[in-house]
Amino acid sequence: MTGLTKPVRYTVFFLVIFTCIVYAWFILGGAKKEYVVTPVNSTYRIIDDTAQNGATESSLNIYRSGALLECNIVNKAQWPFCEIAISLTDSVDKGIDLSDYDHVGIDIDYDSPLEGERVRIYLRNFDPAYAKLSDPISLKFNAIEYAPGEDKGLVVFPLRSFQVLSWWIADYEVPVDKSSRQFDNISIIEVATGSYVKEANYSIKLNKLVFYGERISEQVLVKLLLSLWVVTAIFFIIIDRIYLRKKIKETEERTQRLRDANRALYEKSLVFEELAFTDPLTRTRNRHEINEWLAEATTHSIDNKISFSMIFIDIDHFKQVNDKYGHRLGDEVLRRFASLINKRVRKSDVFARWGGEEFVIFCPATPLGATAELAESIRECIESAVWDNGMKVTCSLGVAELENEGYSHFIERADEALMKAKERGRNRVEIAWNERQL
Ligand code: GH3
Ligand code: MG
Ligand code: MG
Repeated sequence: MTGLTKPVRYTVFFLVIFTCIVYAWFILGGAKKEYVVTPVNSTYRIIDDTAQNGATESSLNIYRSGALLECNIVNKAQWPFCEIAISLTDSVDKGIDLSDYDHVGIDIDYDSPLEGERVRIYLRNFDPAYAKLSDPISLKFNAIEYAPGEDKGLVVFPLRSFQVLSWWIADYEVPVDKSSRQFDNISIIEVATGSYVKEANYSIKLNKLVFYGERISEQVLVKLLLSLWVVTAIFFIIIDRIYLRKKIKETEERTQRLRDANRALYEKSLVFEELAFTDPLTRTRNRHEINEWLAEATTHSIDNKISFSMIFIDIDHFKQVNDKYGHRLGDEVLRRFASLINKRVRKSDVFARWGGEEFVIFCPATPLGATAELAESIRECIESAVWDNGMKVTCSLGVAELENEGYSHFIERADEALMKAKERGRNRVEIAWNERQL
């Protein structure tokens, strides 16, 4: 992670604490919910076999938290019974959704003639798929039977232990997908005497009836917590990507800026180099540029006994050209003069403006004779060239070959030869002979 370490660390720390707290809250029952059925929120009444021509006599006493049903079972109806019927709502078809609950707690004291007699508990569900408002038996029977005994206290059953009565499924021809237990619209709860009763007095004291559930199941809670972790991780991955991309872009931009600045500097340096080493008027090299090269070429030629010669050139009476035709035309003459010479020198020769109207040509690996010939051809070329305004331009040239000497002395000798050419009437080539050549 780049730059995000601190926020990630804080977030992970927070998530760990949050997960622990939420899970502890769940384990300690924070998500638990209860639905207590009491005479305050429901209507309690008696149902017995008198509707089926029975003769059972029943009475019901209702208390704040429960009710006492007392009945004298008379063996007259086909199935003698009595029960407490509890309506959870005012309307049979609009019950209570208990599907979020998973257990029911029942506290009943059952006074019956025989030991271990059972009561029947029905959770009656209304679903238009099988139930009709006009037929109270059509509500689904989710049933358990158990022996509550007396003073046994609260007994808790999982709702999944309830079974749908098979005679009801058969009588109402309930389709298979509707024949399993169902608690999403419970409108009536019945607590009835057992399936087989004798002629005797029975009493059912319903002390407590409570449903237990959880607002959120453990599975859903774990899924939610896991999703929270995954979403947070994805969030940080995305943020990290964006951050990284931004950094890369910034770096690229900075690199590009540096590259541009570098190129600009390089181009500027080339211009400066050009200005420093090239004579702006004649576009030939100037003496500063060749100084270093000259020192090297001189040493190399001496060390390796290679001939190295040069020509010193000076335009004759150039002052008069300026005086007669003006400085601007003088410049033009200088430019053309350099251009004519440039065409005659070889690639290996180094041609440079030495200053004013003086030029030099260094001819590496060239003996005096060949250089003298080059000088003569230049002289002829300048003399025979046609100049503006019928001008006559000539030049004098001094030629010298390098001896065992420094390059300043070498140039000096060529300059002396040039002076000699001037003295001897100009427009000529003079050679600086050395002792060996004389
Ligand atoms: P010589 O034959 O003895 O060489 O005579 P010269 O007149 O050529 O010699 P001098 O050294 O007296 O004069 C050189 C002249 O060259 C003087 C100067 O005005 C001129 N000159 C030098 N550089 C330039 C330049 O760049 N442009 C122009 N138009 N004239 C230049
Ligand atoms: Mg001069
Ligand atoms: Mg001159």
